[in-house]
Amino acid sequence: MTSEPAVQASGLVKRYKSKTALDGVDLEVPRGTVHGLLGPNGAGKTTAVRILSTLTGADGGSARVAGFDVARQPREVRRRIGLTGQQTAVDDLMTARQNLVMFGRLFRLDKGAARRRADELLEIFGLAEAAGRAPKKFSGGMRRRLDLAASMILSPEVLFLDEPTTGLDPAGRREVWEAVRSMAASGTTVLLTTHYLDEADKLCDRISVIDQGRNYIEDTPAGMKRRIGDERLEIVAADPAELSALTDLVRRALSVEPSAEEAGASVSVPVADGVSALTAVAVEIRAAGIDVADIGLRRPTLDEAFLHLTAAAAKTPEETV
Ligand code: ATP
Repeated sequence: MTSEPAVQASGLVKRYKSKTALDGVDLEVPRGTVHGLLGPNGAGKTTAVRILSTLTGADGGSARVAGFDVARQPREVRRRIGLTGQQTAVDDLMTARQNLVMFGRLFRLDKGAARRRADELLEIFGLAEAAGRAPKKFSGGMRRRLDLAASMILSPEVLFLDEPTTGLDPAGRREVWEAVRSMAASGTTVLLTTHYLDEADKLCDRISVIDQGRNYIEDTPAGMKRRIGDERLEIVAADPAELSALTDLVRRALSVEPSAEEAGASVSVPVADGVSALTAVAVEIRAAGIDVADIGLRRPTLDEAFLHLTAAAAKTPEETV
């Protein structure tokens, strides 16, 4: 039982009149992990979360969450999950603490237990000092953290977060990431939808890319980046006139054909062992007395990986999966 994944969906189909929102989506999220559901607008992310959190039924396929079937045992599922959407659920007129106590009471905790849980959550989410203030005066990040705290009242086994940082500034996003990490560290399985690749990169153990209601790619963030190629060594000449000498030097040092880019006065080359290539080239550069403005290893960003993979998948989905 304990080894059963926290979320397991197979062949989920959802149709809205003529629109097929999900066309056979599979998903498996091991317990205690953070899983990202990534995809463009209309890909079907929210629909998948709505089915998994029992808010709507599927037209095909099946899913189990926290060990229970979402269609046949929705109450068991609901008891074990938390859900945070894009709309905030907190009341602006009450203080942060009163809000959490109210949620605790709604979930049938007695007064004492609701207060204790509220204080614990305020502490965990870094809101203890703001406990007596109304969320109306909170920053976006603080509000979202209060929302997350509210969805954690009953310590859910699985937490669904639909675009948890949309609309937040960079500081607010970092605060929410921290909160998600601490929830994951406490053992909660998190399934989040996001448009932001850096968010998926920073938070998720694995990412499922879906598009047009179908699975395209599933991998770790690092694996996604590896799929589009190796690390590259990039060197920028301080003096563009030395670009050609620099290119020759790199070719000789690594026995690989580098590509030179005149506009940026830079040379780049794919490398299997980045650190030793960097060291070898740096030694040669010093010996040759060439001035460089920059030298470094560069990995593809997740953005590049995503664009590359979804473009490839749009042509040949079966081969890319
Ligand atoms: P976004 O990132 O924009 O939130 P999404 O990946 O969450 O997109 P969904 O909201 O799941 O995508 O929508 C998938 C498709 O199903 C879209 O084409 C959407 O227009 C359609 N859809 C979703 N809900 C409904 C509904 N209640 N009635 C009709 N069509 C719907």
